[in-house]
Amino acid sequence: MSKTLNDVTVIGTGPAGLTAAIYAARGGLKTEVYAGLQHGGQLTTTSDIENWPGLLEPVTGLKLMTDMAGQTEKMGAKVVYEEITKVDFKSKPLKLWAGDHLIESKAVIIATGATAKTIGLPREGEFMGRGLSTCATCDGFFYRGKVAAVVGGGDSAMEEANYLSKLCSKVYLIHRRPVFKASNTMLERTKKNPKIEMLVPFQVVDFKTNDHGVSGAVLKNDETGATRELAIDGLFMAIGHRPNSQVFKDFLSTDENGYIKVTNFTATEVPGVFAAGDIADHTFRQAITAAGMGCQAGMQAIRYVEEHE
Ligand code: FAD
Ligand code: NAP
Repeated sequence: MSKTLNDVTVIGTGPAGLTAAIYAARGGLKTEVYAGLQHGGQLTTTSDIENWPGLLEPVTGLKLMTDMAGQTEKMGAKVVYEEITKVDFKSKPLKLWAGDHLIESKAVIIATGATAKTIGLPREGEFMGRGLSTCATCDGFFYRGKVAAVVGGGDSAMEEANYLSKLCSKVYLIHRRPVFKASNTMLERTKKNPKIEMLVPFQVVDFKTNDHGVSGAVLKNDETGATRELAIDGLFMAIGHRPNSQVFKDFLSTDENGYIKVTNFTATEVPGVFAAGDIADHTFRQAITAAGMGCQAGMQAIRYVEEHE
């Protein structure tokens, strides 16, 4: 069994984790950042990024994250291609395991992100980013003047539909039940939006494609069993996110949806353990906000380590 001792151990190499590692390493601390199963995080699954500041031309998510990881290593942090499988936050130094590999650390920054749930349609992976999306703020721009559909009946679906209605010529909101989980305010606002047409109770069971990507959705009426086809250019799934917080559940409190609770910026209830990005923020879920929290976590970790030296 191998053993490592760090000043700061960062879990996750998305924008939050890499930014945290840049700050911690640049602050002179021995820093390792663990990549898990998706080195570079969620952005590596998307094509053009246009809302990261400083880009005169769009870059692919993969390029942005590869450069960010390169910058992190240049600043002196070590990227480790392992997944953290167990932690013990009761002991000091804090303990983490990647399989048999034990990591002891003065401070830990959790930046494990959240994963958007998808419906599980056939060919879903192939058309993600080519007509299928889980983020209107990220991809809505590519559907200007086009017809989009949003799946879901919660606040996220309402928010996505209203956001898209400002860009698209028409938006369908497809929900599987006549009852909505969304708050009354959000639901009423959506119902009043002249560009949004609600289709209930429908499940999306398949989608149609052409040379450009998605061209239609196949809907099944949950009450009658009848199916119909809807011509659309983009299908946005807004059926919730799953924060990657399971490994920490015995040591840290989460909200009812599994997001790690933070107070005083990125501090968790365990001294020396910080959480940044989508794992702690279900409101904004953007690369720049994740990076912003990563910066805060990196700086808070530096202060913590210095104060406990
Ligand atoms: P993530 O990017 O989710 O990274 C999490 C990291 O944690 C990964 O490296 C993962 O492997 C690692 N990890 C998880 N569990 C473990 C573990 N147990 N051990 C070790 N590592 C672990 N935002 C924008 O601002 N602009 C956009 O255009 C945009 N487009 C998007 C397009 C798509 C398709 C998606 C899905 C999201 C998009 N977003 C966009 C949102 C943005 O990607 C996220 O808000 C951002 O990536 C969150 O960063 P994060 O660092 O918190 O987590
Ligand atoms: P949510 O409230 O859990 O709603 C998910 C919706 O997706 C539900 O309507 C669910 O249908 C539907 N769904 C789930 N799986 C599905 C599937 N496989 N196929 C079709 N539909 C499916 O999730 P959310 O909307 O992301 O909201 C999460 C939390 O964030 C909530 O607390 C919400 O209030 C909050 N939030 C707040 C705001 C805001 O205040 N501005 C914005 C966004 C989110 P059923 O109803 O049939 O289960």
